Amino acid sequence: MIIALDGTTSSGKGTLAKRLAAYYHLPHLDTGLLYRAVAKSALNKGIDFADERECALLAAHIDLAEFDERELRSAGVGAAASVVASLAAVRRALFELQRKFAQQKVGAVLDGRDIGTVIAPDADVKLWVDASVEERARRRFKELSSMGESVTEQNVLLQLEERDARDAQRKDAPMKPADDAVWIDTTRMDPDACLAKAIEIVEAHKLAPKEKKAPARKPKS
Ligand code: C5P
Repeated sequence: MIIALDGTTSSGKGTLAKRLAAYYHLPHLDTGLLYRAVAKSALNKGIDFADERECALLAAHIDLAEFDERELRSAGVGAAASVVASLAAVRRALFELQRKFAQQKVGAVLDGRDIGTVIAPDADVKLWVDASVEERARRRFKELSSMGESVTEQNVLLQLEERDARDAQRKDAPMKPADDAVWIDTTRMDPDACLAKAIEIVEAHKLAPKEKKAPARKPKS
C-alpha cells in the first residue's frame, strides 16, 4: 500500500505521515528533507541557487545520512529548499529516488508537495493536509522557538505565506491536491485526532479500493 500525503507547510502532515507509517508498519520518507539537503549542500558549497546544473548535480548525489536533521529543519534551510525545489532539473534528479521508495514491495508512506500528483499518482490513498495560515504560523513559531531560533509569530506567518505561494506557483510539480485526494483540515485537530481521521480514511479505502491510476513517469528534460 502506498500512502501519499501532501499539503502546506506546518499543516501537520509530517507528524501525521510519521505516525501513520508507524501504525501500518510502513517505511516513511519525508521528501521535504531531500530538498532541504540539496539547499543546505548548495549553501555549504557556496553554489548559487540560480545555477540549475550544479544544484541538480548535488541532488543526484544526495545522501540524507550525511546531514544533521536538526540543521535541515531550520527556517533558513526551509526557505532555501523552496527556492531549489522550483528548479526542474533538481526535481528530475530527485525523482527516481522517491519513486523507488514508493514502489517498495512492502509499501510506503511519503509526504511532500507533489507525491499524489507526480511521484506516486498510483498511490492507494492520497491525503491533502492543510490548516489555516494563522494556526500553522502558531505551530511553526512554537517549533522554531523551541529550537532556539529567534523569530516572531508575525514574521513566521509572512514566511509561510511566501513559501506556500512559491510552492503553489512554480511551473514544475506545483504544490496542489491530487484530484482524488481526501482533505484533512487540521486547524482544530490535535495530532491524535489527525491520526484517527487518517486511519479511518485508509480503512475505508481497504474496504472499497479505488481504481488505481497509472504509475509515475519521470518528468521530461
Ligand atoms: O516539507 P518541507 O517544509 O520540509 O519542504 C521544504 C520545501 O521543499 C518545500 O517548501 C517545497 O518547496 C519543497 N518540497 C517540494 N516537493 C516535495 C517536498 C518538499 O517541492 N515533495
